Amino acid sequence: MLTKTALRSRQSTLWRYQELLPVQRRENFVTCGEGFTPMLHLKRYGANIGLSSLWLKDEGLNPTGSFKARGLCLAVSKAKELGIRKVLLPSAGNAGSALAAYAAQAGLEAHVFLPANTPETNKREIRTYGAHLVEVEGTISDAAKRMSSMKDELNGFDLSTMKEPYRLEGKKTLGFEIAEQFDWKLPDVIVYPTGGGTGLIGMWKGFDELEALGWIGAERPRMIAVQPTGCAPIVRAWEQKKPECEFWERTETIAVGLRVPKAFADWLILRVIRETHGTAVAVSDDEIRDALRDIAETEGVLMCPEGAATAAALERLKQVNLIARDQTIVILNTASGLKYSEVLS
Ligand SMILES: *Cc1c(COP(=O)(O)O)cnc(C)c1O
Repeated sequence: MLTKTALRSRQSTLWRYQELLPVQRRENFVTCGEGFTPMLHLKRYGANIGLSSLWLKDEGLNPTGSFKARGLCLAVSKAKELGIRKVLLPSAGNAGSALAAYAAQAGLEAHVFLPANTPETNKREIRTYGAHLVEVEGTISDAAKRMSSMKDELNGFDLSTMKEPYRLEGKKTLGFEIAEQFDWKLPDVIVYPTGGGTGLIGMWKGFDELEALGWIGAERPRMIAVQPTGCAPIVRAWEQKKPECEFWERTETIAVGLRVPKAFADWLILRVIRETHGTAVAVSDDEIRDALRDIAETEGVLMCPEGAATAAALERLKQVNLIARDQTIVILNTASGLKYSEVLS
């Protein structure tokens, strides 16, 4: 039976929460060892910026080097269970790599549609795992359009962000782990680098499930969405108090995983922010580079630019009194900095 005590002796992957996951049969678990990533106390960096309880969940240690592994692990496992043979996905890069890896293990045929200017590492990973790669001029939205134009011909299952339910089920384990790693007392603030928003919405769903189990109370962390100034549709909608985003015309940022001109579930992202009394903040690429270097130099963690954006947002959040010295604050490193060699010094 699933109890807090039983969890202590379970495996260090997201499958430790298997009763709360939608895959019925164990033989359909497709696993590369995803989840249960470290929660690091950033003592030196925190002291430098006046925060005593600043934590970093290092999702860069997941298989394929990003937290996309959580969602695609569940989506591919469930696809296997449902007897699906072929899967399709438009991606900014890391989702494509994760899909390619899990599809390889499950023996599914995978087709990934990427913007042509996606980092070379992502393209090489995808090809090496044996997936089909289609490069498309433009953004992830253009890649998605190309994919739908080929849907009849390919006749595969669409795993686009928030258009099927299971990637979210994988991402909600991020919420379970944060709760478990803080001994079932949620932090005050969670800062999330937002593209399509699955992680943010997933954590929120995960917390609701833990409350339904009676494992946590009704309180929630402030959920804070961070985007780069070169692609900040959620921040703009939040500031203008709109219920959904307008399409962001020209995306330009080193945080390539956040180049999502209009998230499919934008209204849900905005709702999570509103209901948890959070906010949405934009940071520049220069601020991202500075934070990336500062954390590497003081903590020995190589963040991805998307993750470093959450660190870069802290100063702004302090100025507007949304965070304070003694609060427990979690920032997320959503991928390994090693995947972004072109951004490093
Ligand atoms: C995809 C991605 C994000 C954003 O995740 P969403 O679920 O799309 O909001 C953040 N960081 C990295 C490294 C990513 O690959």
